[in-house]
Amino acid sequence: MLREKAWLSIKNKRGCAIMKKTIFLQDENAVWLKGNIHSHTVFSDGSWTPEQMKDQYKKHGYDFLAVTDHDTYTDTRSLTDDTFTMIQGFELWGNASNDKDIHVNFLWADEVEGIAPGQKMTLPERTGKVSLGLCYELREKGCYVMLNHPHWSLLTSPEIENENPYHAVEIMNYATEWLENMGDGSVFWTEMLLRGCRLWNGGSDDNHNGHCPIDGDVDSMYCDSFGGFTVVKAADRSPQAIIEAMKAGSFYTSTGPSIYDFYVEDGYVHVKCSPCIRIYINGETRQYQRKMGRHVTEFVTKLKGTEKLIRAECMDAAGRSAYSNPIFLD
Ligand SMILES: [Zn+2]
Ligand SMILES: [Zn+2]
Repeated sequence: MLREKAWLSIKNKRGCAIMKKTIFLQDENAVWLKGNIHSHTVFSDGSWTPEQMKDQYKKHGYDFLAVTDHDTYTDTRSLTDDTFTMIQGFELWGNASNDKDIHVNFLWADEVEGIAPGQKMTLPERTGKVSLGLCYELREKGCYVMLNHPHWSLLTSPEIENENPYHAVEIMNYATEWLENMGDGSVFWTEMLLRGCRLWNGGSDDNHNGHCPIDGDVDSMYCDSFGGFTVVKAADRSPQAIIEAMKAGSFYTSTGPSIYDFYVEDGYVHVKCSPCIRIYINGETRQYQRKMGRHVTEFVTKLKGTEKLIRAECMDAAGRSAYSNPIFLD
């Protein structure tokens, strides 16, 4: 199991065994892979075909992509090649337990029992109970389940039960953030963590490309691609390894900066990142520690020893952020 591998017993300078705890996979052959885990093609309300989507993301330096058409499974397995991996999935338009709209992403590596290529995932009834039932069922069958864009859905965190079927909350939905100023779910996620819910974060484009058709300017100001992403540290490039890394939390969400390492060792927390101007370490209390500067790439600070969880957020001079997943310490 990845989570067990993340615990390392190592020796300090005096030869004593000390424990390093991290969310990132500890494997010298592991690879960092940049991906978009939420996107729409012509098979729902998007403007690009899956092939055009893959070409564009490959061209922009991505390693993997999930096509998640609304209520429809678009099979993209044949587009995977040696340097680019397609993750399978769809986005459910369902209801929360209060019957407000919720959108949920289901991601998987290859096959899920009961879901056929091209299948429409129409719910028999649009109620919270039926939607949640499907979420639990597909999680049980091996899907990675993410609650999408809570702020855009006008959900507040108390409307989601402590016990829920989600692996993650999408905290950066670039399309709705860029085009509508409604895609930041980081406060929602933080509130759920404060309540004791063990949820990973998530970042994606949720691109539809309606404002940047493939025969237009894909880098226009109105393009909803290439702004919010997930970087996994996985055993290899296979869809199975990427999904396994996501389930274990071995990834970070970003709109720009990179996080190279984040771990706790010998009572200290360590963060390494691309050049930033602010690094924050937060937990279940208010802001715990910070480091500021014009070119900050590392922060090491002592833990109080009572923290239940810690997470890092690294912000660059352009106002973009990278969010680690939490390390749970209790
Ligand atoms: Zn959605
Ligand atoms: Zn979407």
